[in-house]
Amino acid sequence: MRIVIVGAGVLGLTLAYDLARQGAEVEVLDARESGLGASAVNAGWVVPSEAAPVPGPGLILKSLKWMARKDSPLYIRPSVEPSHVRFMLSMWRRCNARDFRSGFQAHLALCESTNDILDDYARDGIAFDSYAQGLLMAFQARENLHHHVHDLDVQRSYGLDPEVLQGDAIQQAEPAMRSGLAGGIFFPHERHLDSASLTAGLRERLRELGATITEHAPVDRVERIGDTVVAVRSGDRRFAGDAFAVAAGAWTGRVTGLFGVPLPIRPGKGYSIDLVPAPVHLRTMVNLSDAKIAMTPYAGRLRLSGTMEFAGLDEDVNGTRVAAILRGPAGYVDGWVTPQSAPQAKAGMRPMTPDGMPIIGRLPGTANAYVSGGHGMLGITLGPGTSRALAEVILGRGYPPRLLPFSPGRFVRKVRPTPALTPVPATGARL
Ligand SMILES: Cc1cc2nc3c(=O)[nH]c(=O)nc-3n(C[C@H](O)[C@H](O)[C@H](O)COP(=O)(O)OP(=O)(O)OC[C@H]3O[C@@H](n4cnc5c(N)ncnc54)[C@H](O)[C@@H]3O)c2cc1C
Repeated sequence: MRIVIVGAGVLGLTLAYDLARQGAEVEVLDARESGLGASAVNAGWVVPSEAAPVPGPGLILKSLKWMARKDSPLYIRPSVEPSHVRFMLSMWRRCNARDFRSGFQAHLALCESTNDILDDYARDGIAFDSYAQGLLMAFQARENLHHHVHDLDVQRSYGLDPEVLQGDAIQQAEPAMRSGLAGGIFFPHERHLDSASLTAGLRERLRELGATITEHAPVDRVERIGDTVVAVRSGDRRFAGDAFAVAAGAWTGRVTGLFGVPLPIRPGKGYSIDLVPAPVHLRTMVNLSDAKIAMTPYAGRLRLSGTMEFAGLDEDVNGTRVAAILRGPAGYVDGWVTPQSAPQAKAGMRPMTPDGMPIIGRLPGTANAYVSGGHGMLGITLGPGTSRALAEVILGRGYPPRLLPFSPGRFVRKVRPTPALTPVPATGARL
C-alpha cells in the first residue's frame, strides 16, 4: 500500500513512521524544508496533565480583559470575516464545564500511552533528547490555583498523581522559585523533549525504513475519480497513492479544502525564545500559570514559550509580546534578570479548532483520504497516540474507539465538489 502524507511536522512524521514500520510504502511531502512549522517552535512538553481543551470556564472573561493589553498572553484580532466570527463564537460556546471536562477526558484517553510510545521510538533507534523530571505549575494568584485544583480529579483518575504545594512548599520542588507565591501543583510523571531532535530522529529512521521525504513540494491540487483520491499535485509534480493523509498543521484547513472538505483550523501563534546559556538552573519544566509562560530547561539553554494570537496565517515575530515573555519569569523566579534582546525568538502556529480538540479520521466524501490536524497546544503530547491510532484506521485494521470524539464529521455538513487548482505559495516562511 502506498500512502502519501502532506506535511512533515510531528503529526505527519509520526504517522509516516507508524505506517512505514508496518510495511507501507510512504512518501511525506512538505511545502518547504521539513522541521520549520510549529513542531520546531514549541516548549516540548509531553503533559497529559495539561491536556485540557483551550475553551474552558472563565476563558471569555479572561480574554476580554487581556484584549485591552498589547503585551497580554492572548490576542484575538478584531475581524468581521465570517469564518473568523463563526470560529470564535463556536469556541466561546464551548467555554463551559461540561464540554471542558469531556474534552479533557477524550484527550487523556488519546495520550494515555504517549510515554510508552516514546519509549518504543527510542527502542527502535529514534534518537531524541528527553527529560523526565515532572512538571511544576506555579501560581501567583490564589484564585487561579484554586481554579486548577478544582479539576484535579480528572488527572487523578488517569494516574497522574498531582501534588498540591501550598505557599513556600513550592521551593522544595523547585529551589529557583521565589518565595511568596500562592503555591503550585507538581505532576511527577510528566516529561519534556527537544522536539527538533524528535523530528530529526524520525526523519532519519523513516529514511532507513525506505520512506521518502520530499521537501519544497507545496500540495496545490488533488486528483480524484469519484470519491477515490488518486493523486495530489505540487505544480507539475504528481504524487500518486492508494491513500492520502493531510497533516499540514495550521494550513490543514486550506489543504483539506483541496479535497473538498475545508475544515475549521485556524492559527494560534506563539513564540519560543532560547536563552543560551541558561540564566537559571531549573530542576524541572515550569508553567508560570498566571502569565501563561512555559519554561523548559535543556542542556545548556533555557527555552521560554508563550502567547496565543488568533490573527493571520504568518510567522512574523511581534517584539512587544516577545519582550513580555522575557519579563514574565521575574514574578516567579528568584533574582531573574530580564534579557534585553532575544536574537533567537521564533514564531510557530498552533493549529487551533473551535472546540479545542484535534480532527482525526477519514475525510467525509472520500474513500481514502484522512486528516490529522488541529492539535492546538498539544501536538507533542497527543501526536504519538494520534498517529498510532490513525495508522490502524488507514491500514484497515479497525477503528480505535478513542478516536471517536475527534471525527472530522463533526465539522462537515455537506461535502463540496473538489475545487479547481488553488495555488499555495511555494517556499519561505510564508506559505
Ligand atoms: C510556542 C508554542 C509552544 C508549544 N508548546 C507545546 C508543548 O509544550 N507541548 C505540546 O504538546 N505542544 C506544544 N505546542 C503545539 C505543537 O507544537 C503543535 O500542536 C504541533 O507542532 C503541530 O504539529 P503539526 O505537525 O500538526 O504542524 P506543523 O509542525 O506546523 O507542521 C505542518 C507542516 O505542514 C507543511 N505544509 C503546510 N501546507 C502545506 C502544503 N500545502 N503542502 C505540503 N506541506 C504543507 C508545513 O510546511 C509544515 O512543515 C506548542 C506550539 C507553539 C507554537
